[in-house]
Amino acid sequence: MTEYQMVIGGELVAAADGQTFEVVEPHRGTVVGVVPSGTARDVDRAVSAAQDAFDGEWTGMAASDRGRLMLRFAQVVRDHEEELSQLESRQIGKPISGARWEVAQVAKVLEFYAGATTKLHGSTIPVSRPGLDFTLREPIGVVGLIVPWNFPIMMAAWKVGPALAAGNTAILKPASYSPLTALRLGELALEAGLPAGVLNVITGPGPVVGAGLAAHGGIGKIAFTGETATGQEIMRTAAGTIKKVSLELGGKSPNIVFADADLEKFASTSPYAVFDNCGQDCCARSRILVERSVHEQVVELFAKATQAVKVGDPSDPATEVGPLVSFRQRAKIEEYVASGRDEGAQLVTGGVRPSDPTLADGAYLMPAVFDHMTPDMRISREEIFGPVVGVIPFDTEEEALRLANASPYGLSGSIWSRDMAKALRSAKALRSGVISVNCNNSVHIEAPFGGYKQSGIGRELGMEALELYTELKNVFVDIS
Ligand code: NAD
Repeated sequence: MTEYQMVIGGELVAAADGQTFEVVEPHRGTVVGVVPSGTARDVDRAVSAAQDAFDGEWTGMAASDRGRLMLRFAQVVRDHEEELSQLESRQIGKPISGARWEVAQVAKVLEFYAGATTKLHGSTIPVSRPGLDFTLREPIGVVGLIVPWNFPIMMAAWKVGPALAAGNTAILKPASYSPLTALRLGELALEAGLPAGVLNVITGPGPVVGAGLAAHGGIGKIAFTGETATGQEIMRTAAGTIKKVSLELGGKSPNIVFADADLEKFASTSPYAVFDNCGQDCCARSRILVERSVHEQVVELFAKATQAVKVGDPSDPATEVGPLVSFRQRAKIEEYVASGRDEGAQLVTGGVRPSDPTLADGAYLMPAVFDHMTPDMRISREEIFGPVVGVIPFDTEEEALRLANASPYGLSGSIWSRDMAKALRSAKALRSGVISVNCNNSVHIEAPFGGYKQSGIGRELGMEALELYTELKNVFVDIS
């Protein structure tokens, strides 16, 4: 079992008080790594290292040179793709095929933002006074990046990429279920030649280390991905120092199926839109809204496709759904399944532990499909964050959109129809940040990603993300 260290100021270090915690693999329940459990002292150390780096060569560096370093960083990630994928798969039970795809995305995100370093600029503005008015896009300084356990290294890259491209220095804080790939990412940044202190990685309990970052006077901005309740807490904590805050939070996304849709395509692809990553996906389409005339047909097709999903050992490349992240998470999901039953929804398939004895030691749960869910049920209102989907029939387009929007969340959603006018009307009417039509793809490195309502503040990915990591300065020059 490997002992890991934090990455602060270019050095690999233990927690200031020497405390550690264990990372447990959910497939078998064995310990896969021992990691420093940081405290406020480690937050202080990381902030001063990041500030030193910001005051040093990083800030004076030409944008193109910063871009070149980031490209090298991307290449080093590619060189370690298999190692990082195995680590990601083991620490959270993510199927290896998914982990490989996500690590490849990390390199691509870093490449995208490496190219962006030289495309980030201000503008000139025709103000009323005689003179020259222009804006400068400048880095904020030291930024804190707090990420969740469901897509650990990919969520880290979504933040590290734009943060560094804009010229900031950063402190990355991974979730305690999934610190291993983040710590390796910090080491690989050094291997790629990023100056010491530009990317620091610290680990430890969210309420200590995460909250410590949110409260710290030396940090100018917090970028957070995680639960809505944690996001609220971070906003409150960050208010003390008026930090900039961007938040990517929870979701309860709809998958709207009109009767004229390609139902076969919907049914064969959509189980992955909710059960991928064992349903631990902020974009999970966990509510299927289906036009009543095709309701029974859709439930039958979808249940059949769900039963064909391969649940199993995450290290098997054929596995599509692995275990939940922890036994605690499985207990929480089983409670949701029980509540769905108790409130009168009909369990069509899944929701039980697998009968395969080789999976008995892991936190597994078979993908569950509920029919006859109603909007007032807990399974319809709350983000479950597990492999559970519910079906609600509707009669009209207006009713479908009303049901879809009746959620405090607004992250993603899909619309299925061969009538493009209806699909586009629906896409405009949905109060969500990322919409897919006749598919479920909501993440594109080049396009903005983020939520409406309680799903978040700000947009990641694309050139839009750079706005979250810059200050905008206006300069007026009297040339009379
Ligand atoms: P979480 O909120 O429990 O933890 C996220 C991170 O915050 C972790 O690093 C944790 O240690 C830290 N943290 C916990 N308490 C904190 C505090 N008081 N102050 C500062 N930091 C604190 O979330 P999770 O369980 O790791 O992830 C699952 C959630 O993330 C789901 O709600 C999911 O929808 C959401 N998510 C959203 C997106 C998106 O882009 N919108 C993407 C992935 C996950």
